Amino acid sequence: MPSTRSPRTHAAAASICAAALRQNFLALQHAAQMPLLAVIKADAYGHGAALCAPELVAAGAGWLGVTSVQEGVTVREALRGTPADILVMCGLWHGEAAACIDHALTSVVWEPYHLTLLQCEATRRGLPAGSIPVHVEVDTGMARQGVAPGAALTHLLTCLQAAPALRLDGVMTHLASTECTADPQNARQMERFAQALQQVQQAGLRPAWIHAGNTSSTDSGYMPNALPALAATLGAQPMTRTGLALYGYALPLDGTAPRVEPNLQPVLTWTTCIVSLRDVPAGSTVGYNAAFVAPGPMRLALLPVGYADGFRRALSSSNHQAGGAVLIDGRRAPVVGRVSMDLTVVDVSDVPSVAIGDEVVLMGSQGSECIGADEHARLANTSMYEVLCGISDRVPRVLS
Ligand SMILES: *Cc1c(COP(=O)(O)O)cnc(C)c1O
Repeated sequence: MPSTRSPRTHAAAASICAAALRQNFLALQHAAQMPLLAVIKADAYGHGAALCAPELVAAGAGWLGVTSVQEGVTVREALRGTPADILVMCGLWHGEAAACIDHALTSVVWEPYHLTLLQCEATRRGLPAGSIPVHVEVDTGMARQGVAPGAALTHLLTCLQAAPALRLDGVMTHLASTECTADPQNARQMERFAQALQQVQQAGLRPAWIHAGNTSSTDSGYMPNALPALAATLGAQPMTRTGLALYGYALPLDGTAPRVEPNLQPVLTWTTCIVSLRDVPAGSTVGYNAAFVAPGPMRLALLPVGYADGFRRALSSSNHQAGGAVLIDGRRAPVVGRVSMDLTVVDVSDVPSVAIGDEVVLMGSQGSECIGADEHARLANTSMYEVLCGISDRVPRVLS
């Protein structure tokens, strides 16, 4: 995505390791035993969709998943003519059908108005029958997007069949609880999906793709077990979708399931450098609200990064509560006091011969130490997803 803000390029960058991304894709594809749609929504979970898309396609991804038409256009341009299918997973809105068709984006549809928007634009252009592929999303238990099996699905399929330019290329659903492998929600949703697929078949439609799943359903082996038989009932190809794991992270699965997941490597390394150093005596107060008071003489390093960059304020520390850390010279340097909007202070008392300009790893590995998105998520009491896509636009993403 083009950034509207000025990055402080001297100060921080997120390096995106192309080899790790490709290797994660190949390992996951192997584990899934079926085609894998690479989810690159939210600017590839903060990794930069325009950087990641060509790498994933080069590794063999035939399908990429984005959130919006605008993001699809950016990704299509980044592919520079290399063929790949791009699925716009959150549907389309008024005024977007033209861009969808111009850039050969496949829209997920579940509201009748989605079909109307595409058919009207196709009619305006005189496009031939069946030239615009769509994927119908079935709501099997998220109550978010998707059409419910039964009367609502019948109605949508009728609308689809009355829109000559449109072609049902895929049917999909999204599962709510795949990291909880024993949760009956998974089987319940797959049953509803099967019911929907039966309706599709009865309507005489033959989609090419049937897809469901995410990182955890690949990781647990649930999707490779459940999906191919369902797809076979329609003579369609099964496909599963993966986001988080592409970037090297996976959710803990509830105890029962062994992880089929191969060795994933984190793709993003977020670095900055020390821009100032000071020695303070015992009793010095550090940062807003003097939340930290030096218990003894300390050496403090200033980092030109703060919560406006996505270095979360929840990594702050006080004398009563430890916070996050960064890596300098292969050692953990704890955050001292409050993380500010643009600045963070860390304790480098234990880092010998530290100097202005030294590289600092905010997320990633250095030497034998590693700070992952999981550590930030734990401290911020949130998910790795939110941490990764929260790294802000002003941190330049650089392919390495
Ligand atoms: C985000 C998303 C995924 C990927 O989920 P992960 O847990 O990141 O693998 C799959 N399908 C849909 C519809 C999504 O929105």
